[in-house]
Amino acid sequence: MKKTALITGISGQDGAYLANFLIKKNYKVIGTDRRSARSDNWRLRRLKIDKKIIYEEMELGEIYEIERIIKKYPFSEIYNLAAQSFVATSFKSPLNTSNITGLGTLRILETIRNINSKIKFYQASSSEMFGDVLNKFQNEKTPLNPQSPYAVSKVFSHYITKNYRKSYNMFAVSGILFNHESPLRGEEFVTRKIVRGLVKIIKNDLKVLEVGNINAKRDWGYAKEYVEAMWKMLQQKKPDDYVISTGNSYTIKEFINLTTKYLNLETKWVGKGIKEKLINKKNNKILIKINPKFFRPAEVNFLNGDCSKAKKKLKWRPKTDLKKLVKIMVDDEINYYKY
Ligand code: NDP
Ligand code: GDP
Repeated sequence: MKKTALITGISGQDGAYLANFLIKKNYKVIGTDRRSARSDNWRLRRLKIDKKIIYEEMELGEIYEIERIIKKYPFSEIYNLAAQSFVATSFKSPLNTSNITGLGTLRILETIRNINSKIKFYQASSSEMFGDVLNKFQNEKTPLNPQSPYAVSKVFSHYITKNYRKSYNMFAVSGILFNHESPLRGEEFVTRKIVRGLVKIIKNDLKVLEVGNINAKRDWGYAKEYVEAMWKMLQQKKPDDYVISTGNSYTIKEFINLTTKYLNLETKWVGKGIKEKLINKKNNKILIKINPKFFRPAEVNFLNGDCSKAKKKLKWRPKTDLKKLVKIMVDDEINYYKY
């Protein structure tokens, strides 16, 4: 029989890739969006699956809406991807972030427990939970030290998922995913912002790109591969949490350098600190400069994941290195630029 899955946050990057993956596995996919969604489902259209999904409105702040949806379909799996997911916004809207990214998870878990505790539940945990880290690699045993209202909310969701697993014997798991990017990444996140910004400059639609802290390091993987790990976690005999990462960490500056190189721009960095700038050697024009308005009140300077457990138990491994990811993102940005 066809399995039915619920994906919250269907309009987001991971929602689109996961829906695509599950449809290929012959699942019936119900995707939920918040009522105020302004999304035109461009990601689902890009993957040509927009007509293959059943859409429902579901605001994570309203438990009655969650109940209505969970009662309506015979779900075997629920993937909770919806969240106020942008760290910078979480400093401006800490209460909304806590209500949606934190309590939203509890509302779903509580509803599953009441309606059908056999439904398997996936929670989108985040490497941001590790926060201010001291050790070289982070894995499932690394202490959490969140640095933003977003990360604090994800820590709440992470522990409440563990708690429901233990207390009520539910199949509830968290995937601790390190940053994962793609052409479908939101434009506010740094990788897509850099790729889009530089392509805009080349097309004469932007003069200078402004960014924040270019010395922070991230472990960036390819989102399309990461959603398979989510599914694999729900197919295991026992529920458990897993880190998903590449094991390589680069600075934002290194990401910029890989992007300019792929775009055949000859560049040089000049200046230091907030005066640091990237110059186009051909015409001496500034391509990128620092604007402190993009600095965060508290920063996560370094993330690098150790996904040995996922490699061993899920037989999952990352396949795309950063150079290849930059190529995928830049090619797509140029292809779809007009649209
Ligand atoms: P996106 O920001 O692309 O998608 C977030 C989704 O949540 C969107 O569909 C958004 O809808 C929805 N949403 C936001 N607020 C609400 C609300 N109040 N009620 C219902 N839905 C809401 O994130 P990603 O797809 O990149 O990430 C998926 C999940 O994984 C998120 O929970 C994120 O925090 C987490 N994560 C992501 C990582 C990454 O690198 N991408 C790393 C680790 C964890 P709308 O379109 O209306 O805004
Ligand atoms: P995050 O890891 O979930 O916060 O993902 P982001 O892509 O938003 O940010 C990754 C890192 O890039 C953080 O350390 C940011 O401080 C840094 N960064 C530097 N400049 C920018 C910028 O202009 N926008 C964003 N979003 N992040 C930036």
